[in-house]
Amino acid sequence: MPMSADGFTAETVFNQIIGYTYNDLILLPRYFDFEAGDVELKTRLTKNISMQLPFVSSPMDTVTEERMAIYMALLGGIGILHYNNKINEQVEMVRKVKRFENGFINEPVVLSPNHRIQDILDIKKKSGFSGIPITEDGTTNTKLIGIVTGRDIDFEKDVNKKLKEVMTTELVTAKVGINLSDANNILKTKKVGKLPIVDNEGKLRALVARTDLLKNRDFPLATKDKNKQLRVGAAVSTREEDKERVEELYKSGVDVLVIDSAQGYNKYQIDALRYIKRKYPDIDVICGNIVTEEQAEGLLKEGADGLRIGMGPGSICTTQETMASGRPQATAVYHTAKVAYNYNVPVIADGGISVIGHIMKALSFGAESVMMGGLLAGTIESPGEYVYKDGMRLKKYRGMASLDAMKDGGAKRYFADNESIKVSQGVSGAVTDRGGLSDFIPYLSQGLKHAFQDVGARSIPELRDFMRSGKLKLQVRSASSIKEGGVHDLYLADKTFL
Ligand code: GDP
Ligand code: 5GP
Repeated sequence: MPMSADGFTAETVFNQIIGYTYNDLILLPRYFDFEAGDVELKTRLTKNISMQLPFVSSPMDTVTEERMAIYMALLGGIGILHYNNKINEQVEMVRKVKRFENGFINEPVVLSPNHRIQDILDIKKKSGFSGIPITEDGTTNTKLIGIVTGRDIDFEKDVNKKLKEVMTTELVTAKVGINLSDANNILKTKKVGKLPIVDNEGKLRALVARTDLLKNRDFPLATKDKNKQLRVGAAVSTREEDKERVEELYKSGVDVLVIDSAQGYNKYQIDALRYIKRKYPDIDVICGNIVTEEQAEGLLKEGADGLRIGMGPGSICTTQETMASGRPQATAVYHTAKVAYNYNVPVIADGGISVIGHIMKALSFGAESVMMGGLLAGTIESPGEYVYKDGMRLKKYRGMASLDAMKDGGAKRYFADNESIKVSQGVSGAVTDRGGLSDFIPYLSQGLKHAFQDVGARSIPELRDFMRSGKLKLQVRSASSIKEGGVHDLYLADKTFL
């Protein structure tokens, strides 16, 4: 091993018989002369898709459905919708993300004049709002004829009264095509709480709520396509029947497909990649998961536009123990990224990200973005509801190869969906509450900017250049130094981080 007084280059560290995880390594600090705010985190998801932040949410059924995908894209990253569902359900999620317009409720809950006050109270209890537009038949296919708001029913004692008796019929509406600031002006000047947006036939197309006025923020980092719609990705399997899924996802405007296999260097994945590339040449395809140079080379030669790296590092994952193959994640990222660099294709470090430092290390070793499951599963935007246990607010999080998820269709990723005996490669559990993505993502990016500053790098490409040229030095940590680097020797520690 070459001697060095001040740490070792990535090339030296990663070309040993031993493999490293993020926690095994530490970056040595370098001189800097700029503020953390000067750091630029712009990056690429694939060859053709760029993002302002290097964050991707994982295609898992406890992580990414439309809400997660909308907020990931609004805040500067992207969400990949899971495929543990029917084709039409996944396609509907894509549509919802693509159609999302900040401030407009595109599919408001509506009722008919023959519904009763009790129905409004039920909606209020379940969803938290009670401003309900009334259409002729209670769907958005017929004309808007009134609206019921809290003010119409506050003093009504008879919950069986029909809505036609209490609804307001003198409506302030606006026409489809109005922009958000004009819609907000109408809300202000007309002093109404809800503004229904109607088309030329008088059918309801959207709703704008006064309560959202204050919340309407700009999302300057949003990941958008050329039509200014949010970008979204979707996972597909290599199964023959998923050709139809691909076709429907393509038609719904999905921006990127992720061919989702636990070990992605195989005939089925290459056949799927060739098929998609031939039939839909304008859509980017991410392949994976892989961990070796040979696997990377094999998929890149076939035209993969992005690679997903990781076999075994996931927080819910038992693959390395059960299947005996995989690779420590830091080593896997370094080697695959080295090969991908020659093809000008970005790699995504997938799994095992549980703190900001792991993101920093993944990017330092050559990844251009990170994919997260467990870290995002506790946010408000993930699917499912919070539960309470031992005084903690938790959300369910499960591996796609947990027995639980495989029963619901997740086994496709592991080529086990046709097998009668299922061997799990993941577990099902719960993670703690992380609050809303609107706070969490800026927290991650701010922390990351400071981490960049500590090694004197102003951008992701610059960080990678430092690593490749050997300017960025690493040190392997001893077991006790890892302990020293964490919180230790305190009687009590406040673990609140946000
Ligand atoms: P309401 O007056 O009881 O309807 O409640 P608010 O207007 O105070 O709050 C409604 C909140 O729910 C707003 O942030 C809306 O954007 C949100 N929301 C989401 N979907 C719907 C929907 O279908 N109808 C209504 N009325 N609000 C919705
Ligand atoms: P996390 O961010 O929670 O550490 O890891 C998430 C990643 O773990 C996912 O993006 C996916 O690659 C992987 N993964 C998801 N479910 C399973 C599973 O059941 N078993 C294994 N081996 N990996 C999983």
